[in-house]
Amino acid sequence: MWLINNIRVTHIELLYKSPITMKCKKVKQKENKNVCCVFCKAQNYIKKGYRRTEYRGKIARYYCKDCGKNFTNNDGFYRMRFNERTITMSIDMFVSNLSSRKMRNQLSRHFSFKVSHITILDWVRRYTLKVNKFIEKLGYNLGDSFYADETEIQREGKHDRFWACIDWNTRLITGYHYSLNGSITQAQEFIKKSVAKGKPKFIQTDAAQFYPKAFKKLFYSNKIGGLTIEHKIQNYQKTRIHNYKIETVFMKIKDRVYDFRGFKALWSAPILMTALVIQHNFIELHSGTNETPFERASVDVQVGNNRWLDLIRLATQNN
Ligand SMILES: [Zn+2]
Repeated sequence: MWLINNIRVTHIELLYKSPITMKCKKVKQKENKNVCCVFCKAQNYIKKGYRRTEYRGKIARYYCKDCGKNFTNNDGFYRMRFNERTITMSIDMFVSNLSSRKMRNQLSRHFSFKVSHITILDWVRRYTLKVNKFIEKLGYNLGDSFYADETEIQREGKHDRFWACIDWNTRLITGYHYSLNGSITQAQEFIKKSVAKGKPKFIQTDAAQFYPKAFKKLFYSNKIGGLTIEHKIQNYQKTRIHNYKIETVFMKIKDRVYDFRGFKALWSAPILMTALVIQHNFIELHSGTNETPFERASVDVQVGNNRWLDLIRLATQNN
C-alpha cells in the first residue's frame, strides 16, 4: 500500500495511475452524468457508499429512488471480475499478437492474476462486438482511391478467405469480409461493405476472375442507388505486387491474420478479424503516416491513450 494525496492505493493501481490521473478525472466526471439504474434505467438516484471488490477496488454504489434497488453503474465493465485496465491491456496485447496463453502467463507473472486463456478470448470477443457496433455508426471522411485484396486462411484443412479494402488517403480499412470461398457472390458482399463508409472514384483489385462480374452486377445494374465506381485491375501476374506502398499495409494485416490463434471455431474467426480491423483503424499508429487511420479520416470520436478503454466506454454510452 502507498499513500498518494491521502488516498490508499495498491502498487498495481499505482502502476496504472501515474501519467493519466488528470485525464481519468475528466472522464469520471463525464461518466457520472451517465449513471443510470441498471434495473429500470431511471436517473433518479442517491449515492450509497462503495462496494469492495477483489480486483477492481472500490466501486461506487447507488440507490435508485424509482425502483428501490441498489446498483452499481454500467460503465461497460458491469459485473466483470477484473479491472478495466487489465481487460483492455489484455485485448490490446492479444490483438497485437500475443497469444491468449502468453497473455494469461503475463498476468500471472506480473500481477498474480489467475485468468484462463479462454477468459481472455472472451474479453476480446465481447468488447470487439460492442466497439464495432459503435464505430460502424460514425462518419468517415475517406479519399477516392481504394485498394482491395484477399488472403487465403487455412482453417482445419479448409481454405477460408479474408478480404480487405484500404483507402489510400487515410490507410483506413474501409471494409472487410470473411468467407468460406472466393466467388462472385462473396466478392459482391465484400465490395458492398467496402463502399459503405465512403465512395471512391475507383477500386483496384488483382486479376481474380470474380471481380469484373461482381463489379458489373453491383454498379451497372443500379443496385446501389445508381452509384458507379471504376474497377481497376492490376496485373498481379506480371508484377507480383500491385502497389508497393499499399502492399506493406496488406502485408502487416496478413501477418497478423496468419499468426492468430483461436481460428478453430468458425464463429470465432470473423470476430477476431473484426478485432484486427479495429486495432488497425483505431488503436495503432500507421508507421508511414504516424497517425491512426481514424484520425486521418476525421472521425469524430474523443479517445485518450487507452483507446480500447475509451472506445468501450463510448460504446456503452451510445449503443
Ligand atoms: Zn431503478
